[in-house]
Amino acid sequence: MKQQILRTIYDIFDRWNIEPGVACRKGCSYCCTQNVTITALEGESILRFIVATGMSGWLAEKLACPPSHQPPKMTTNDFASACLEGREVDPGDQQNLSICPFLENNLCRIYAVRPFGCRLFISMRTCSALHPAQISDEYFEAATAVSQLLEHLGQKEYWGNMLDVLPALLDIREFEEIADRLNSTLSMQARLQTLTARPLPGFLLSEEHVEKVAPLLQKIFDTEINGKRVEDVLNGQ
Ligand code: SF4
Repeated sequence: MKQQILRTIYDIFDRWNIEPGVACRKGCSYCCTQNVTITALEGESILRFIVATGMSGWLAEKLACPPSHQPPKMTTNDFASACLEGREVDPGDQQNLSICPFLENNLCRIYAVRPFGCRLFISMRTCSALHPAQISDEYFEAATAVSQLLEHLGQKEYWGNMLDVLPALLDIREFEEIADRLNSTLSMQARLQTLTARPLPGFLLSEEHVEKVAPLLQKIFDTEINGKRVEDVLNGQ
């Protein structure tokens, strides 16, 4: 059920996100140097794709020597919680950005199951060293709200850098053909770098953008999967 909700949220966001003027094109991979954070649900979806497409050896090689990456200091909902309570926090900045190991010939090898942290990256202008991605505040707030929902959906499970969450999940039996190719200490070390996904403390939405973003969230809440509204499932019913 949770995997179905994950895919539904991806689909609804993708449809909402059809903005005229987006400069992103196939083969442009400027944003694939980011430290991508994912939930355990997203990690399981990626690992299932890897096993189903016979890419276990390929992934094991990538995870055995990952590029330097930063474990996040706090989850999106931790950050939201602090902001909503008026606490000062430092979510950390992103330095030492490396090219994502899943990028080959400027194309993503896991594109079909890429996590939301990748899906949300768009730009209204062609990116370059001097011109980073440009998005509207409204888009940024919508993407943050959906990230918060996805973290809520995966609450109590791993949340962190994609290159830590993936090896952390390799104790799940269905992924053993990947685990068997890796040193088990790598998975243990990765688990220490992950955080725990938190429930939604409230959305980080400004008054001026609520009107535009609320229909997107309502569409997600109202969608029915197997006879249950997504909002009810998110509320634990
Ligand atoms: S997973 Fe794919 S889309 Fe995401 S950063 Fe890596 S190469 Fe880019």
